[in-house]
This record gives sequence, C-alpha cells and structure tokens, in this order.
Amino acid sequence: MRDGLAISVSHGALRWLRRNRLALNPVACVLTAALSTAFVVLNEPPAPVTDLLWIANGILLAYLLLAPRRRWPLYLAAGIAGQIIGSAVVLHTWIPNSVSACLNVLEVAVSAILLKRGNQDLPDFTRTRYQLRFLSCAVLLGPAVAGLFYGFYVAVWMHGPFVFNWLTWIAADGLGTAVTAPACVAVFQNGLRLPWPVKRPWIYPVLLVICTSIAFHQSIWPAAALVYPALVLVLLAMGMAWAALGTLFVTIAGSYLTLRSPGSLPVAALLNHSHPAARLQVLVVSALFTLYCISIVIDRKRVTEKKLNETVALHALVTENSRDLIMLSDLDGRRSYVSGAAQAMTGWSPRELVRYRSVELVHPEDQLVLKTALAHLKSGAEGELVEYRMRRREGSYFWVEASLRLVRDHATGKSTGVLKLVRDVSRRKSAEKELEDAYRAIEALAETDPLTRLANRRRFDQCLTSEWRRALRDRAPISLLLIDVDLFKAYNDTYGHLRGDSCLKQIAQAAMDSVTRPGDLVARFGGEEFAVVLPNTAREGALKIAGQISRALRDRRLPHTATPTGLVTVSIGCATMVPEVGQQMLNLIQQADDALYAAKRMGRNRICSADETVAEFVVSQAS
Ligand code: GH3
Ligand code: MG
Ligand code: MG
Repeated sequence: MRDGLAISVSHGALRWLRRNRLALNPVACVLTAALSTAFVVLNEPPAPVTDLLWIANGILLAYLLLAPRRRWPLYLAAGIAGQIIGSAVVLHTWIPNSVSACLNVLEVAVSAILLKRGNQDLPDFTRTRYQLRFLSCAVLLGPAVAGLFYGFYVAVWMHGPFVFNWLTWIAADGLGTAVTAPACVAVFQNGLRLPWPVKRPWIYPVLLVICTSIAFHQSIWPAAALVYPALVLVLLAMGMAWAALGTLFVTIAGSYLTLRSPGSLPVAALLNHSHPAARLQVLVVSALFTLYCISIVIDRKRVTEKKLNETVALHALVTENSRDLIMLSDLDGRRSYVSGAAQAMTGWSPRELVRYRSVELVHPEDQLVLKTALAHLKSGAEGELVEYRMRRREGSYFWVEASLRLVRDHATGKSTGVLKLVRDVSRRKSAEKELEDAYRAIEALAETDPLTRLANRRRFDQCLTSEWRRALRDRAPISLLLIDVDLFKAYNDTYGHLRGDSCLKQIAQAAMDSVTRPGDLVARFGGEEFAVVLPNTAREGALKIAGQISRALRDRRLPHTATPTGLVTVSIGCATMVPEVGQQMLNLIQQADDALYAAKRMGRNRICSADETVAEFVVSQAS
C-alpha cells in the first residue's frame, strides 16, 4: 500500500518535472553553475597556480547550445548568479568573484555566438567539422577574449603578470570547457541513453572508476596512463556521450585526488628522474592495452562490414533486377530511394523520380485513393494495397498496383517511412476493361431488341417491376402505354415483310422521339406491339405522350393502302395507377391491354384510356 503510494508520488513528480522542464532548466543552470564553481574554488591549488580546470563554463555553454537564442539572456543571468553564489559560499568575497563570474559568462557568450554563427544546427560532437569549430571557438577564442580582460584586471588591480594570467586563464577555461561541454550536451540531449544494446554496461564505468583511483590515489606506481584504455573501452562499448562523461569524471576525480593526496602524478614526476623505466613500463602496458582494445573492435567491425557489404550487394541485386518498382519514402511522401526499374516502367530515371513526392505523379482522380491509404498507414495499419494511374515521363498515364508497407525503426519500433512495391498492371487493366466492355455489350444485347434497338420484353419487365415498387413506396402514379400497329398483317401482305420491318423501326423511332424524361422507357412488347413505361406520370401526362407518339408517326407519313387514312396508324391503350399494397403489376398491363382493344374495337387509329374511353382521331386522310 505504502509502496504503491510512493510509486504513484514519484511518477507524479517525474511527470511534473517533465512538464515544467523549460521553467526548471534555468534553476538547474544556477545550481550546477554554483556547485561546479564551489567545487573548483574549494580545490583551488595554492598560488601562483590558478584553477586546474574551470568546468562551470562548459556546463553553461551546453545549456546555451541546446536552447533557442531568445532564452540565452536567461541562462547567462543564471550562469552569473550561480558562479557568484558558488564562489562566495567558499571564499566569502564578492567583488573579485563577481568580476570573474562576469568574465566567465562573457567567455561563454562569445563562444556560443561564434559557434552558432551561420550554423543553427544542434551540437553534434561526433562530426569532425563540429569538433574543429568547437575547439577553435569555445576552447581557444572564447577563453582568449575573456582571458585578455582578466589579465588586464589582475595587472591593474593586483599588479600581477599580464601574460601569465592570460595564458593560465586560457588553459584552465579552455580545457575545462573542452571536457565539460560535450559531456553535458550528451547528458542533456539524450539523458545518457545507450546508442546500442550493451551487455552488462555497468562494467565499463566501474572499470573506469577503478583505473582512475589506481591512477591518482596510490603513490607507489606512476599509473596515470591507465585511464586511457579505460576511457577507450567506455567509448567503444557505450559511445561518445558516456566517454565524454567519463573524461569529465576523470578530470574532476583526478584534480581532487591530485591536489588532496600525493597521487601518482607527482610520483610520476619523481620517478621520471629516479626510475624512468617504471614510467616507461606503465606507458607501454597502457599503450598495448589500448591498442588491443581498439584492434578487437576494428576486427569485429571489419567482419560486420564484410557481412554488411554482402547483404547490401544481395539487396542491390534483388532490387535493381526486380521488374517491380521499389520505392522508400517518409510518412509525408518524400522519397529517399527509387529502384532501377523506374527507367523501364516510367521513363524517369531513379534520380529524377526520387525528387517527386509520392502523390505528385498520380492521376488527379486517383490521388485520393493513395492519400487515404497513406492516412491508414499513419493511423496504424501495417499494409495497404491500392491501384492508381501513374504518369510516365512522356505524359501518358498507366495503371499500377502498389503494395504499401510501414517501415519501423528496429530499435524504437517507431514508424519511420513507407516501403512501396509498384507493379505495372496496365495489361491486366486493359484486359479487364475489354472484358467489362464485352460484358456490358452482352448485357445490353440481352436487353435490346435487335430489329428496333429498343429495350426488349425482358428489360421492359425489369423496368416495370422496379418502377412499380418505387411508385408503391412513393405513393406516386405510374402510367403504361400499349401501342399496336393498325392492320399490320395487311401491311406485310401488301409491302412485304422487309418493308414491314423497316416500318416497325420508323414507329419505334417516332415513339422514342416523343419520350423525353430519362426515367421513361420505350420497349418492344412483342410483334408489332410497343409499350411505354411512364414513371411518376398521371393520366393526363400519359395521354399527352400517347398523342405525341401518334402525331410523330403521322408526321412521318408512312403510306398504308389498307387503312382508311392511307397512312400507317397506331392504336394506343393507356392505363394509370397509384399502386397500393395488395395490387398486382399485372393489373396495370391488363388495364392498358383492355384500353388498347377498346381502341381497336372503336375503329383503330385512336387513343383509349382505361378508366374512361377517350377517342381521339389523330391521323387525318392521307394527302
Ligand atoms: P389489328 O392489330 O389492327 O387488329 O390488325 P393486325 O393485322 O395488326 O393484327 P394482328 O395483330 O393479328 O397482326 C399482327 C401482324 O404483325 C402479324 C405479323 O405478320 C406482323 N408482325 C408481327 N411481328 C412482325 C415483325 O417483326 N416484322 C414484320 N414485318 N411483321 C410482323
Ligand atoms: Mg397485334
Ligand atoms: Mg396490329
């Protein structure tokens, strides 16, 4: 119970610290500056030698290098306050302390300005260029500028030697900054996380502590050089950040032990005169051990490099000879790798294609598909399969199938990018399209009357069924016209079947011309009979359409000697219903059929409505 409470309190405190890091950093800066100043001042060697290594400036410089410029004044003020407090606690003097604190902070400001000039990047002590910049700006120039003022101050106020004080300032501050700043940057930046997995990592710092104690604490053997192999081991096993911290530890522990006890450094000086062989032996042992450590690592690295080269060659063989295009991009679509298949597939060389973002060469209509797939990946999907059109170099588009997979960082498991395998599927797509077109054509044929090109009886049945249901749902009227050619048997007998067929085509065309709404359907009902489905049309509208069909046919003036008018005429039966539950669609057909036969009975060439017979002579005597 108490443990649980303690854990939740400590978690809460950690969360609070993390949340308030920005506000706490200047406080931490004051504290570290005060502590490091107090430590160095406390261990100051007797005059005329000044501080061995001044480490407070390196800490402050690390704060500045990692902070935005607008926060620099805050850190500089924190640095001055910390250094004044730190030395005043030990020495109880204010004026000289304040002068040297101001000069120290001036030095850090000069170093930071020079280091950041024309280079806004965060510090990276693993890069040789940055190391050189750091050495020239922060280890030499910064201390040289502040040291000048210090030299003058001592010369004028205390009548001390100017050059000596200037040089000792440069040596103490330069070396102190050289040791401290990289270590602090490493600690502040990644909290001393190990850059790679290490088995039993505690061994190396422990070894360093042991070697440092042997080197500086005992006075029997001149063993200072022992710290080099220990530091090299830390560097090789745990990386630059830990090695920098190790150096800082050696500096602090070494200066403390050297000044407090007759450590190995004075002994070494002694032995240099009396027993030069002993110092040489230690040097040889240390050099051999260092070489041994480095050679093991170099050998291992060579083996790894060889394996890596083999793997790289194998990968290159596979990717460059794959007919599929392989691309690697970040989650925002910026490409970092394009395989050799790009040239043959798209006409773009891999170098050209790598400059485009992943959606840029995609057909505008298909960009959404790809963007959606990328969004799915971002929100946690492992893989997506999409098809889209991609632009070739010469401008035409072709169909591709892309398999997208999320790429994760091995160490952290975080998603870092997208691997895309792109396959040209234009052949398959065009085959699919041909098949689809053929299917559509067959489907259309299956629903079309070959003679008149109108919808056939099958299509008529489907259409009437669905429109009947819709009318039932919407409580809307639906009308049906049944059209029968008058005395068509006689037409065939007089003009022959071929002219009969062409007459049927003309009648079909006349009916088609009279029907305008997209939902209306003109169909061949059978033989010389036609049907017109008129959804959402009341009786008056249906009669109007019927009249238009009759008139359109009359206007074509097709001769027919057997009819009273001398022209081809039709009789039209017209029925309208607002379907109700329980009623059958066949009722509508039956009513239209009844109306048609009523029109026939009444002498043909007329339109009859199912509910009340309307006779309309639409065709006059042929001229
Ligand atoms: P009415 O309807 O006015 O009573 O007389 P009708 O002569 O049209 O009567 P009926 O319905 O008996 O005759 C239909 C004729 O239509 C029979 C057939 O010769 C003809 N016919 C049916 N289908 C076709 C076709 O596809 N082409 C041709 N040329 N004639 C057809
Ligand atoms: Mg008939
Ligand atoms: Mg007929």
